[in-house]
Amino acid sequence: MTKLKSASRFGARYSSPLKKIVAEIEEIQKKKQVCPRCGRKSLKRTSYARWECTKCKAVIAGGAYAPQTEMGSMVDRIIKKGEKYEEIVKEIEKKDKEEKKEEDKEENKEKQKKKSRVFLCHGNVLSVRKLSRNLSQ
Ligand SMILES: [Zn+2]
Repeated sequence: MTKLKSASRFGARYSSPLKKIVAEIEEIQKKKQVCPRCGRKSLKRTSYARWECTKCKAVIAGGAYAPQTEMGSMVDRIIKKGEKYEEIVKEIEKKDKEEKKEEDKEENKEKQKKKSRVFLCHGNVLSVRKLSRNLSQ
């Protein structure tokens, strides 16, 4: 039960892989995060995708359960640095492959730890594609 942390409130209901994902998300969501404006560890989630710094009172629109998501940082790179969507995707795929290789090595020693990529949503990928297409025109 200690492994499931906050998700232990569900008791015997739902499957343990699901509860582990919930626990993982809630750990990030409930912890105070680093504020991008003042750099202090005081960013708190106040509502869905709304993050507020308790020190400098900055309100940030971030991810639903984490202040910065993989998708969000991708959009930032496209808009602010003018990088191309396809290049970023290639980079992410490369990282994924490397992670998988490392996991395969660990698998022989330990049980495989499943990393959840819950923050990458298909709908967002499509909208980023549209966005990068519009920017390049
Ligand atoms: Zn702040």
